[in-house]
Amino acid sequence: MISELARAKINLTLDILGLRADGYHEVSMILQTIELADELTLSKSDAVSLTVDGGNNVPSDERNLAWRAALELQKFCGKNFGVAIRLKKNIPVAAGLAGGSADAAAVLRGLNRLYELNLTDEDLRTIGARIGSDVPFCVSGGTCLAEGRGEILTPLAPLKKFNVVLAKPDAEISTAWAYRAYDAAPAQIHPPTKTIVAQLAKGDCDAAFKNFGNVLEGVAISKVPAIAAYKRKFLAAGASVAQMSGSGATVFALTDEAHLRQVAAAVDSAQIFITQTLSKED
Ligand code: ATP
Repeated sequence: MISELARAKINLTLDILGLRADGYHEVSMILQTIELADELTLSKSDAVSLTVDGGNNVPSDERNLAWRAALELQKFCGKNFGVAIRLKKNIPVAAGLAGGSADAAAVLRGLNRLYELNLTDEDLRTIGARIGSDVPFCVSGGTCLAEGRGEILTPLAPLKKFNVVLAKPDAEISTAWAYRAYDAAPAQIHPPTKTIVAQLAKGDCDAAFKNFGNVLEGVAISKVPAIAAYKRKFLAAGASVAQMSGSGATVFALTDEAHLRQVAAAVDSAQIFITQTLSKED
């Protein structure tokens, strides 16, 4: 039996550049791994099976991305590797934190180890892209620029370590709904991604934070006004930056040690998680 952690991600930026002929959106996002993680164990078995502990309405059959990852890996290798997967959900579901994608990536890494397949990270990212746009990033994590559908990855210099406070409103936003709503009312202001990448490379986080942006925030706030309120409260409590992650509805704050207690106490009536940014080397 082996164990794998499936780390969540936050979007330091999320921009939509257009709609592609294949129906996907062309995106440009800076993604950051955080410590908050689902826990998986994988054991050799005759067939694929899955037990899910926690997580609201998370399927425990082929619809689960962890299960799909096992099937896609079987297809890639042309062999029926059986595996019994136990998944403990700690990452809130449908929250913009890529929980399902992280689980899929963890199954790919885990099966590679369990059956000593010697697949490269590149192979795992190729398989991951067949499962979902965020899976390739979740295979190796860190800080990356993600382009295309999200599967074209450019590793960036590791972000300085920050405390992360997550506030998940009592509402879920489906990714499909957010992108459809965006198409009907596209954002007028876009984050200057190239400038932010250059500022982060120089270690000028304060300048980068001022430029952060997520173009899905507008439509998400129209559905869940608490997102705007959480951002205001985090900033008033001294957060360095506060923004929605992915298609929401989770809002994250990055904060230094001196402001952590105040920021973590700023938002009530929400699920609060205190975690930190993680680099690839952590
Ligand atoms: P993203 O940030 O990639 O858009 P998300 O964090 O918003 O993802 P998930 O938590 O991955 O969303 O869940 C989205 C949906 O996927 C859920 O409603 C759930 O039914 C389904 N799902 C399938 N597999 C999983 C899994 N392993 N964990 C959570 N949800 C899963």
